[in-house]
Amino acid sequence: MSYFKNFLNANNAYVDLHGTGHLPLKPKTKVAIVTCMDSRLHVAQALGLALGDAHILRNAGGRVTEDMIRSLVISEQQMGTREIVVLHHTDCGAQTFKNDEFTAYLNKELGVDVSDKDFLPFTDVEESVREDMAILRQSPLIPDDVIISGAVYDVDTGRMTQVNP
Ligand SMILES: [Zn+2]
Repeated sequence: MSYFKNFLNANNAYVDLHGTGHLPLKPKTKVAIVTCMDSRLHVAQALGLALGDAHILRNAGGRVTEDMIRSLVISEQQMGTREIVVLHHTDCGAQTFKNDEFTAYLNKELGVDVSDKDFLPFTDVEESVREDMAILRQSPLIPDDVIISGAVYDVDTGRMTQVNP
């Protein structure tokens, strides 16, 4: 059975808390955060962000993919953000597999050949942050004056630690 009905019920209560009011479309802090989809990372709470403060872009691993760059270009060129934070975390799902094993598994389970696809797993979380910061720095679509920072979030303590490029 779907969980969706619970969301409708929870949202009813949220609407009362939310009230009505219109915030500006452009994020107040001018920051875009690139991070993982992990359910233990409540980005807004962990970083002290309120509604309207920042763009939060998430995928598996918080990796800088082509589509992540697409979103960042829109964030910067249309919505006025000037700063990017790459935030990966400990105990990440992207550390639980290797490309060749995973593509072999998908071939067996789904009958599809994705052997040429990179699912962007990593072993060292600080290294993956550095890698993604470097991809952003080198991208011609990200202007040189955009500030890029990186960090690792510890899912056990909630602490965020900066990673130098
Ligand atoms: Zn993760």
